[in-house]
Amino acid sequence: MVSETKQERAIRKETFSSLFNESETLPELQFETPEEATGCIAALMRGFWKFVDDCVERELPQHTQTCAKGCSYCCSQPIFMDIFEAVACIYCMDNGDVATAFANGFPAWQNNFAPQQPVLWKALQEDKWDELGALTKKLTAPCPFLLNDECTCYKARPMVCRTWVSKKFRLLCRMNPSSIKYTLKSQDKVHDAYNRVLLHIATSFEIPLAAGGWTTLPLAYNSVDGNGVELLKHAIAKHITYSR
Ligand code: SF4
Ligand code: SF4
Repeated sequence: MVSETKQERAIRKETFSSLFNESETLPELQFETPEEATGCIAALMRGFWKFVDDCVERELPQHTQTCAKGCSYCCSQPIFMDIFEAVACIYCMDNGDVATAFANGFPAWQNNFAPQQPVLWKALQEDKWDELGALTKKLTAPCPFLLNDECTCYKARPMVCRTWVSKKFRLLCRMNPSSIKYTLKSQDKVHDAYNRVLLHIATSFEIPLAAGGWTTLPLAYNSVDGNGVELLKHAIAKHITYSR
């Protein structure tokens, strides 16, 4: 993880405590440069990720989970990462392995994902979860952040990965990770906090939300207009280059 500025540290801490209390407002984002803007998003997300980890740990402490380093059956299915999480993830990671994994993994991931993207996006916007479930079964390419069965952005992985845990025999996930996944009791609380954070960022940057409240699908940059695209391009250009 890259080290934080003083302002980023303050935003992360304030975000973390505000998420436990709905009456507390999320920190105001102040920025003058693209670096400061992406830093603010990353700091908010870091606070949110800490909140998620806290919720998971309270409910299913790590020593009771069967998940372990090098176990990655669950990383070869569609991973929904909001565009702001992608910005934060890329901004936070100062690690050559992330760039290598992304460069190696992205082409296969995109070949698998791109043909399904329009239908997937439509099903998501229309809340057709059965359709979405059937479509996602066709998407089996490994996540572009996976390298040698390990997550290269583990500390900055998205909310869906943080809440995807199991307490059953690990090898069962090889057959169907979705059916083995532990269902968090605090799932609604986590999702509410997620929406709150995304809305706060979108409002701060005047980014319009797509139908259904989503800012975008993972790495589907074109569905966000305006500042969001520029911010993301900046964050990506800063940390990742990959050949098409
Ligand atoms: S959910 Fe299953 S596949 Fe994923 S890390 Fe945990 S045990 Fe491994
Ligand atoms: S971000 Fe990391 S944990 Fe999440 S699917 Fe990708 S490799 Fe797995």
